[in-house]
Amino acid sequence: MKKLYKGIHKFSESYYKKKKKLFEKLEKGQNPTVLFITCSDSRIDPNLVTNSKPGELFILRNVGNIIPPFDAVSDKNSIAAAVEFAIESLKIRDIIVCGHSNCGAMKAIYANDDFFEKMPHLKNWLQFASPLKDIINNLGKDDIQRNTEQQNIILQLKNLITYPSVAELFEKEEIRLYGWYYEIGTGKIYELDRESGKFKLIEPLLP
Ligand SMILES: [Zn+2]
Repeated sequence: MKKLYKGIHKFSESYYKKKKKLFEKLEKGQNPTVLFITCSDSRIDPNLVTNSKPGELFILRNVGNIIPPFDAVSDKNSIAAAVEFAIESLKIRDIIVCGHSNCGAMKAIYANDDFFEKMPHLKNWLQFASPLKDIINNLGKDDIQRNTEQQNIILQLKNLITYPSVAELFEKEEIRLYGWYYEIGTGKIYELDRESGKFKLIEPLLP
């Protein structure tokens, strides 16, 4: 914790001072243009990997970047609340579901009951990713870990469309959904190509 306390002062003395005007503007309100849904994993830093600033991304994180289907949680669903708020109130029209390499959550869906002995909530939560077992089985591919991580992104994008707010806009092509796969070791991000169902490296955009 000591490192974090020191970090607070370093932040206010350096980064904050340099960007004071930005923070004063942000104080008045937020106007993010992208909903960025990703895993709680400590190795992911959405602002860092997209070179974006505070205020640009509305970030929703949970174990395994999972979006329960609209009807799956009947009461007090924080994920649904954030999706609704992002679309209806913040008027966000770009949503990224970003999974990542070596994801512990995607490993855990194959774990046995002993692993979950003291983590009943985690066990329940990961049920939302359990359809992946059949999907991966049917694909019959070798690299189970990477395929599970990538198929999970596709599954969660489908779940997003179960939300009436998303479905309505998606039908009218007024909202864009992206599947990203972040490869931690290489720092590269791959994007889902809807036609082929494959993830392709995001190449630099031409100026
Ligand atoms: Zn993860």
